Amino acid sequence: MLKEALEKKLDYDELSNCMRCGFCQPACPTFRETGYEAASPRGRIALMKAVADGVMEPDKDFVDQMNLCLGCRACEPVCPAGVPYGQLIEQTREAIEEAQEHPWWVKAVRRLAFFHLFPHQKRMYQLGGLLRFYQRSGVQKAVRKLGVLSILPKQMREMEAIIPEASSKGIVDYFGGTVIPAVGERKYRVGMFHGCIMDVLFNETNRNTVRLLSEAGCEVIIAPDQVCCGALHAHSGEREQARHLARKNVAAFHKADVDFIVSNAGGCGAMLLEYDHLLAKDALWQEKAQWFASRVKDISEVLTRLVEPKEWQSLSQRITYQSSCHLRNGMKVTKEPVSLLQAIPGATYVQLREGDRCCGSAGIYNLVQPEMAGSLLDEKMGHVAATQADILVTSNPGCLLQMKAGIHQAGLEGKMEAVHIVDLLARVQQEEKPLSPLE
Ligand code: SF4
Ligand code: SF4
Repeated sequence: MLKEALEKKLDYDELSNCMRCGFCQPACPTFRETGYEAASPRGRIALMKAVADGVMEPDKDFVDQMNLCLGCRACEPVCPAGVPYGQLIEQTREAIEEAQEHPWWVKAVRRLAFFHLFPHQKRMYQLGGLLRFYQRSGVQKAVRKLGVLSILPKQMREMEAIIPEASSKGIVDYFGGTVIPAVGERKYRVGMFHGCIMDVLFNETNRNTVRLLSEAGCEVIIAPDQVCCGALHAHSGEREQARHLARKNVAAFHKADVDFIVSNAGGCGAMLLEYDHLLAKDALWQEKAQWFASRVKDISEVLTRLVEPKEWQSLSQRITYQSSCHLRNGMKVTKEPVSLLQAIPGATYVQLREGDRCCGSAGIYNLVQPEMAGSLLDEKMGHVAATQADILVTSNPGCLLQMKAGIHQAGLEGKMEAVHIVDLLARVQQEEKPLSPLE
């Protein structure tokens, strides 16, 4: 069954493009940790091809190696043959998902999360409201005091300790509308992609994103019908649902007729950028999907074009930067965040050793592969501590939570804070808020 599903889903031509040079291996975190060929990009591609060629039956070890992959795509930029490994692993996971029988409770949790929660933004805000009540009402304090959390796995306890204050309102409620005018002369009309989790757990970052864009001369359109980008779905083998969400987003932003579609989360941005591939075989949507993908930009790309750092406030602190894998390897955005950070007056920018290596967050990887994720985080925090930075900057919510967890575990709280790049730029932006929030 898995064999047939793989034969159906895998792009055989792309598999055959791998020339087995091994240039990808030093870039691969799971290969570097284990030293196993099967845990490397070249090894995984060879396994996929062996199954597609019918010389190997896919077994549990095959599935385990595919699941151990972080999906960080660090193997792509170093590949001389341009093998789109990210697409191959997603196709493989889709086949695995189609063929495998989960226990009933796993099926129930997946169905609830992927079909009944993430795609429905109103439900995400309702969940945010419940979480906010838990955090603010004293229940959280009582639960922690009574040791109730000890029944949870370690990773979930650690996540609970660093989860930010949730919001029950999205940015549309906050700004009281879906169009926020440019301050001064309008240079671009941009669509703001607010994300499903971002707008609940990092609502302030979304508000700061709108504010920075508006102050930089962008008219910001928060397309009201937008939904979750579908990245978690695609990475977990639910590509059909990812396509469904992609069509909704393409329609929402096409209607808004924007110059750019701006994301402030590397994981979402890389997914949005690939809607043209995702919908390539959909004759009705392929053209609009290409229109959409050609307009996707990370916030750092737009701000680099428009802002004037000389007007920023001085910040006499040491800053380092952990880049998001999907921003770097998927969106190919590397220079812009660094140049913005280096331009902050008074700040000392310190390069993070192996700052281009995955932190182990990778969507829900840190929950489902805790051992590998923990080992990658420990190594990361060793390099982070060596920078002696006051501020550790990231550009993706998953990385931000992982860095907060790392700071907590390494006992660096009080000495170092993890901050989203947008929030740091909002701190140094001198302009007073021209926007009128409702709360
Ligand atoms: S670098 Fe590219 S071509 Fe070389 S082994 Fe890795 S995936 Fe194959
Ligand atoms: S996506 Fe990351 S973990 Fe997976 S094979 Fe490529 S480099 Fe290795």
